[in-house]
Amino acid sequence: MSTDPKRLLRARWPESASRPVVSPLMPSVVYASDDADTLDQQYEGEIAGYTYAREGHPNATVLASLLDAMEGAEGGSVVGSGMAAVSLALLATASAGDHVVGADQLYGRSLRLMTEELPRLGIDTSLADPTDLGAIEAAITPKTKLILIETVSNPTLRVSDIAGIVELAHRHGVLVAVDNTFATPLGLQPFTIGADIVLHSVTKLLSGHSDATLGYIVAKDPGLNERFGVLSATYGFTASPFDCWLAERGLYSFELRYERTTTTAARLADRLAEHSAVKRVIYPTRRDHPDHNRAVSLLNGEGGHMVSFEVEGGRQKVNAFIRAASGISFAPTLGDVATTLSHPPTSSHRAMSEEQRNALGISEGFFRVSVGCENPDGLIGAFQDALDAL
Ligand SMILES: *Cc1c(COP(=O)(O)O)cnc(C)c1O
Repeated sequence: MSTDPKRLLRARWPESASRPVVSPLMPSVVYASDDADTLDQQYEGEIAGYTYAREGHPNATVLASLLDAMEGAEGGSVVGSGMAAVSLALLATASAGDHVVGADQLYGRSLRLMTEELPRLGIDTSLADPTDLGAIEAAITPKTKLILIETVSNPTLRVSDIAGIVELAHRHGVLVAVDNTFATPLGLQPFTIGADIVLHSVTKLLSGHSDATLGYIVAKDPGLNERFGVLSATYGFTASPFDCWLAERGLYSFELRYERTTTTAARLADRLAEHSAVKRVIYPTRRDHPDHNRAVSLLNGEGGHMVSFEVEGGRQKVNAFIRAASGISFAPTLGDVATTLSHPPTSSHRAMSEEQRNALGISEGFFRVSVGCENPDGLIGAFQDALDAL
């Protein structure tokens, strides 16, 4: 360490005529400019440059551009979580006195946002079944600004009638936002069937390694995309550079992981359906799924990486199965490289009464599986063995 009092406290980044092939991680909170004129030009958007990380940083820009390309979009924002993306969709389109319609099987926190937080801000909300166009239309009022749906719902894997909802929403001058987390852009690009806003929890299969919490949101309308950026900087929804860097790395293997997990999930679903301890299997492209036809046409004929199933019996059988399937993490997340098993009655849907859960078809014996990239035979064998143990 130098003791020279004129020594600069900050080191200089080395010059290099060649570039790294991997995106550098840029944790800098702040960026130094050459002079006031340069800073002025930056703020006016005349020259490119970063100023303060909450307003934007290179790792978020890089990740957003990759996600934009996957959704066939431009100008999307990466934010600090999937819930930040859901919040942005609502905050950017609705104000006090407006009304928003949500699907009745939204992700648990999205439901809480709709039913507990928006009303507090003076935004009225209604919930309706996104597989029933009559129910959605009946929920629309003259004050409705947005309909928020998920391509594939959690955990019953119902497939929304997105094209039908878009048609009737646009007839009423209402925007449609699609949470495309479960389907992913390889299952469906919602803009191709008329969606106005698409959002993701990047935390899940896109990032894929359960080590980054992130969201992404993009609209067709450039004005809305600008609003997302402004709101994100103002409310403080900004993503961490390190999480963006990890997600970028994960994204490069996304297509491989999608193909592997989807192929294995379809096989696992068929195998589970053959087992005598299994009461019911839910997988979108299976013939016994209520939305089979829509799933096949909407999702490129692929059912995705999520499988749900029900075993006979109560909590004792549930515990016995989780213990017997000890090689599979019992954890309430999805989209990890490793298979995870979740039990909605004690996790995502624990706030509901038993009657409410039963109305959705979520019995005590209900499990949701997020299929990972393990050897398919080994994984299916592990499920088979755990079910045999019942
Ligand atoms: C996980 C999830 C979210 C929330 O994402 P976070 O990154 O956990 O905030 C929103 N929608 C769906 C469908 C999800 O699965």
